[in-house]
Amino acid sequence: MGFDRNQYLRELETIVNIDSGSRNPAGTGKVAAFLEEKYRQQGFQTELVSVGPEVGPVLVATNAPDEPIDLLFIGHTDTVFLDGEASRRPFTIKGERLYGPGVYDMKGCSLLTAYLMENLPAELKRSLNICVIHNPDEEISSFYAREGIIEKAKMAKFAFVMEPSAADGSMIKERKGIEKLKIHFKGRPSHAGDAPEEGRSAINELAYWIVQLNTLIDHDAGVSVNAGTIQGGTVPNVVPEHAQMELDYRYSNPIDVTAFLDMLEDLQIHAAEKEIGIDIAVIGRRPPMVDVPGAKALRSVFEDVGKQMDTVISFKKSGGVSDANFTTSVGVPTVCSIGLIGGAFHTDHEYVELDSIFSRLELLTAVIAEMSRRKMFCTSADRLRVT
Ligand SMILES: [Zn+2]
Repeated sequence: MGFDRNQYLRELETIVNIDSGSRNPAGTGKVAAFLEEKYRQQGFQTELVSVGPEVGPVLVATNAPDEPIDLLFIGHTDTVFLDGEASRRPFTIKGERLYGPGVYDMKGCSLLTAYLMENLPAELKRSLNICVIHNPDEEISSFYAREGIIEKAKMAKFAFVMEPSAADGSMIKERKGIEKLKIHFKGRPSHAGDAPEEGRSAINELAYWIVQLNTLIDHDAGVSVNAGTIQGGTVPNVVPEHAQMELDYRYSNPIDVTAFLDMLEDLQIHAAEKEIGIDIAVIGRRPPMVDVPGAKALRSVFEDVGKQMDTVISFKKSGGVSDANFTTSVGVPTVCSIGLIGGAFHTDHEYVELDSIFSRLELLTAVIAEMSRRKMFCTSADRLRVT
């Protein structure tokens, strides 16, 4: 394998040192343009697709436009860090680890994706229809990029979500779904001593909602409810007119979201009876990443290839979300978090294990070759059906 580690590290340094928080369209745009050039050099058709002024462009690179996709790769160019982080804490190598904002989640992994394409044996690459998406807003729920991701996923046979692997090298097979809401309660203010009966307490209603919603919690079934922030009221002697909370509901089984949405409806009826106005804004929403048909066979390729390479492969379930939540929602067998090994993501001490760059490149190349050998990709009948 003609992998040039020094070149990889130089390029990683370049993109880690670009501030590219989700709300920095110019920054994510620069990272996307850098990666675009890498795909273009190897003959991929590329496009930077605008998804509005709020975030940067989505990079789409493919070696077979208009074809059904054998393998869809998904990564993101944004990080959770604010502007200035890259100059405060630039890319560094200390011993066997790499540091810098987004090095692990997931600039190292996005760059790895480009190298993976470059290192695929020419014959294999020719026989496969590959599409790669790098989206600019994964850390803010892929609000702008999700439609494009789902559209490509519908054409794909398999999806590899290139998020980083855990510190122990484990990958992810299932993820919870999420409903993240901001709920505003509007009551009626009144003197708490003089005319309490004329007031309508926004805080009382909020408290009622939290108690009711918490009855949905079922940790064994993977259902959690968290009122993560609350605000409300002004002073103790005024019945509070305003209150608001941010709520995080997570679930493993797609049907469980129905109970949550039903309860929200009931609670709005309760609020109306109490003369409290309600405004609900959805600030995050992803269906669960589920174990769709075909995913087990995909994971067994990883396990078998891992065995041959003396690499322990394990797949876990996660409470966190990723773009894999979207690909399985349209039935595409998906593996997630198969990228570089490291840890402490979303913190200022996130790191990548240096030796995982080559080992992951080697593993993923072998997995794709084995999938091809097992004839898992699109047949010519598949291609005719779609075109
Ligand atoms: Zn990520």
